[in-house]
Amino acid sequence: MAGAQAELILKNGRVWTGDPQNPWAEAIAIHHNRIVAVGNNTDVAALATSDARVIDLAGRLTLPGFNDAHVHFITGALRLLQADLSGACSATDIEKRVREYGAAHPRDAWIVGGNWDPSCAPDHRLPDRGELDAAIKDRPVFISSADGHTGWANTKALQVAGITRLTHVEGTSRVLTDSAGEPTGILKEGAQALVRRMIPPAPHDRRIAALEQESKLAASLGITSIQNAGGDDETMLLLEDAEREHKLSLRVAVALSVPSTATSDTIDHLLELKQLYRDSHLRVSGAEFVLDGNVAAHTAAMLEPWADERGSGTEDWAPEPYNEMLALCDSGGLQLWTHAAGDRAVRMALDGYEYVRRANETRDPRFRIEHAEIVAPTDLQRFARLGVMASMVPVHADPTLLDELGRAVGPQRSALLFPWHTLEQDGARLVFSSDWPASMSFDPLRGIAVAVNRAGPQRLTVESALRAYTTSGAWASFEDHLKGRLRRGMLADVVVLSQNLFNIDPRQIAATKVDMTIFDGQVIYIRQ
Ligand SMILES: [Zn+2]
Repeated sequence: MAGAQAELILKNGRVWTGDPQNPWAEAIAIHHNRIVAVGNNTDVAALATSDARVIDLAGRLTLPGFNDAHVHFITGALRLLQADLSGACSATDIEKRVREYGAAHPRDAWIVGGNWDPSCAPDHRLPDRGELDAAIKDRPVFISSADGHTGWANTKALQVAGITRLTHVEGTSRVLTDSAGEPTGILKEGAQALVRRMIPPAPHDRRIAALEQESKLAASLGITSIQNAGGDDETMLLLEDAEREHKLSLRVAVALSVPSTATSDTIDHLLELKQLYRDSHLRVSGAEFVLDGNVAAHTAAMLEPWADERGSGTEDWAPEPYNEMLALCDSGGLQLWTHAAGDRAVRMALDGYEYVRRANETRDPRFRIEHAEIVAPTDLQRFARLGVMASMVPVHADPTLLDELGRAVGPQRSALLFPWHTLEQDGARLVFSSDWPASMSFDPLRGIAVAVNRAGPQRLTVESALRAYTTSGAWASFEDHLKGRLRRGMLADVVVLSQNLFNIDPRQIAATKVDMTIFDGQVIYIRQ
């Protein structure tokens, strides 16, 4: 350690380093944006410069900053600019909020709302355009469900988008119609794009301000790295501007979207973007393929029919083009992400990765399957065998949601939902995320609480859940040499918690707060 010096010292902590060689420590020394030592108080104190800032952690649990490995960060940020419908369940409540928002934004050509929960209506019935017309008739209105799988348009919005009884959609997309064959205003999955593409984007400065606000929210939750699921040129330009204007206090790795219409030219362009964005603050890491929807919306591709409605979902890709595009991305050095929620989609993804293994012989591909909400027992061991990481969303197994999903798949198959522990035991890498804003919470501690308190055999230990939200996240984006563990040479991204998750009653985990977040060697958040 000769010559090392530190202008920021953290001492008297219970430091969980995520580093198997040195799992626990008392103190951390930071120089600029790097960790220069992790060890005991005395050794670390010796590195302090004369004017070093010394923070007494007072025995609190200190961890590598959280890494949210699958988030729709821009969507989350832009929802801050929309009418917020969270908690509004009855038609009357929704109407009132939309009308008030419309009145407060008289110059907005479109009224756009988010965070709607279609499943919370008191009568469990999907609403229709007439109910939105009652709030606003003369301007188009479009409401997105919190999970992003369902949209709700008023009559004006359907008109502007040209959606009629003759509109034809494919794959998982659906335009719901009434008994007379007219669109009801409810659009599922890709059909929402028919309306969305008509909505003028918010001005640049409002979008940057929203990203800054979302980044501050992340800091207050201890998140110092995110991996953005889905992205394109516009995503990269917006993030680049926000980064240049110092509005982001987290590291962003982006998996670019591969549309089901992709050709080799599309992939060439993604590879150009990968070359362009490659530093530890903003980088392109991979390419995301979306095979299906999700179990809650009954849009997942399933091996068995739904227990509570007809059908078993459809895929957005056919196996051959999917396999070919996977192989093309992989040979260009783009990490492969596949969104697959249903067990039939998961199997198709595993088959695709098996194909790529044979075709390319890439040495360390770190294939990913996003969500894997339900996995057939015979496919479980294929994750480890093919080197596929299971990128899971722990809050998906929140007890209320788990009941709802259990009804969708039926009692026999509900034991196959979110097989975290089995996958981990089989040797697959488990990586955690929020899927925010398509899920109920952006908060990693909420996810960790769900994982550790889950009833039944898939419950995880605190250590496993933390690893999935820190160390494995860094591994997932090929940045494990830079972050995810607290050790000498790593980037100084650190979070301090109000309680020691390892020795409290697991039921208290959800009440834990982030006391401090350090990003890139700077204290960016202190709880007031
Ligand atoms: Zn997602």
